[in-house]
Amino acid sequence: MARRIGVLALQGDFEKHKRALEAAGAEAREVRTAEDLDGLSGLIIPGGESTTLTLLLLPELLERLHTFCETHPVWGTCAGMIMLSKDASDPRVKPLGFLDLDIQRNGYGRQVHSFESDLKLSGNVEDAQTPLHGVFIRAPRITRMGENVEPLAWLGSDPVAVRQGHFMASSFHPELTGDLRLHRFFLSLRP
Ligand code: GLN
Repeated sequence: MARRIGVLALQGDFEKHKRALEAAGAEAREVRTAEDLDGLSGLIIPGGESTTLTLLLLPELLERLHTFCETHPVWGTCAGMIMLSKDASDPRVKPLGFLDLDIQRNGYGRQVHSFESDLKLSGNVEDAQTPLHGVFIRAPRITRMGENVEPLAWLGSDPVAVRQGHFMASSFHPELTGDLRLHRFFLSLRP
C-alpha cells in the first residue's frame, strides 16, 4: 500500500511537492489543521517564508506538529529547513528545534541571487555519482551542524541537504526539477 505523506499547505510551494511525492509512489495530502495529520506516515514542510510560517502555525497545529515530528519522518525544504532547525538567528522565526543545525536565512543572497547549481551527493543516495541539480531561491545556509547530522548533498564544501535520524532538510527545492531521488530517499526513512 502506498505511504500517505502530508505536505504542510499553509503557504509556499506545496503543490509541486505533492506531485513529486505521487510520482515517487506515495499518496499526498495537504495539511492545514491538526486533524489533517491523523493517519499520515510522514510530512514535508515546503519552502515559502519562515517568518510567515511562524505566524501561521497557530497553537493547536503547532502542538500536534511537535508530537508528530517526534514519531514520524519529516523533511523541511528551504523555509521548511529553517523551521526544523535549532536556531535561525532571527527573532521573527520560531524554529521547532528538531534538527541540530543553525541556519542563516537568505545565506546565499536575496531573491536577485537565486541560482541553480549541480550538487555532489553522498554515497547513501541512489545513483550518487550523477550530480543532483539544485534550485536555490533566497536559500538558507547551514552555519553549524551537530555531529549526529549526516550530509546528503554539498554545494562546493557547504552541506545543503542533510539527514538526522528520521528528519531530513534541504536548502534548495528538489520538487522543482523532476529528479525524485531525494523524495525516494525520504520515503525510505522510518521513525
Ligand atoms: N528566504 C526564505 C525564508 O527565510 C526561504 C526561501 C524559500 O523557502 N524559498 O524563510
